[in-house]
Amino acid sequence: MATNAQTSGIRDEYTTYPPSGSRCSNCNQGFVPLVPARRAVQERSSGPPLVLYRHFSCPEVKAR
Ligand SMILES: [Zn+2]
Repeated sequence: MATNAQTSGIRDEYTTYPPSGSRCSNCNQGFVPLVPARRAVQERSSGPPLVLYRHFSCPEVKAR
């Protein structure tokens, strides 16, 4: 009876500054320095949780 299997396990989302060299998990582009982005933690069935960064207003929003 897993009812939350469709949420892709993303949690703990908040706004922060991404570290240099990281890329948006949505559009795979780099970030502009000193511009905040969305940080989230994605739970994985195997291995440690994955930290994701996304543009605060990403130009490429994936429709799933
Ligand atoms: Zn993006």
